[in-house]
Amino acid sequence: ERDMARKLAAGNWKMNGLRASLAEARALADMFPAPTVGVLLCPPATLIAPMADILKGSKVRIGGQDCHAKPSGAHTGDISAAALVDAGADYVILGHSERRADHGETDHTVAEKTLAAFMAGLAPVVCVGETLAQREGGETLDVIRHQLAGSLPDACDLDTLVIAYEPVWAIGTGKVPTLDQIAEVHNDMRATLIARFGTGAEAIPLLYGGSVKPSNAAEIFATSNVDGALVGGASLKAADFAGIVSALQ
Ligand code: PGA
Repeated sequence: ERDMARKLAAGNWKMNGLRASLAEARALADMFPAPTVGVLLCPPATLIAPMADILKGSKVRIGGQDCHAKPSGAHTGDISAAALVDAGADYVILGHSERRADHGETDHTVAEKTLAAFMAGLAPVVCVGETLAQREGGETLDVIRHQLAGSLPDACDLDTLVIAYEPVWAIGTGKVPTLDQIAEVHNDMRATLIARFGTGAEAIPLLYGGSVKPSNAAEIFATSNVDGALVGGASLKAADFAGIVSALQ
């Protein structure tokens, strides 16, 4: 039995938001005092602790956007999984395509970070997704299988692991795969995870991400093996994100 929510609406603020934005987090919490699904906000690291303060007593969870693979040490500018926990995080996004592109993160790096997250008691949201060239080359399922194989350690805590499928070409572009394309990838991810980890993988939340908004959330959530969403732009305003949370409930 998972102790973390199976259905999850996760907001990824990326490098957006200042202290003033915490009012959006509070507004969201006020709109959903007793959500029937998991609601998660992942702000920039500097906002995790003040967000934890402002959300005290609410059901909205908080996550980081990255952590280091090592538990502590001489790694200037990096942040440990334990520090995220200490600041009030329960989750951490790992291997987002922007981290892979901007910081050269490989599947191997992501697997090491995922292990570090488990060790610190954080639920990792491990991201995978194909580029437009890979999609057009018919390589999507191969790419996703390969990324899943390499980005997850053998010692996975199936009770807290979350996977997000985010086609790179759908992120921040307003372009979304067809529902058939989403279903094809999500069904294949489920089968791949069950083949590797056994029937415990049946309950791993599989999030879709990439240009999710209130107007397309319901049909995406009705798609096979989609358990929620990882949302960028539409998570910044409580009013927008609320529409997505409502669609999942
Ligand atoms: P988007 O970003 O919703 O703005 O497309 C999604 C993500 O990168 O997590």
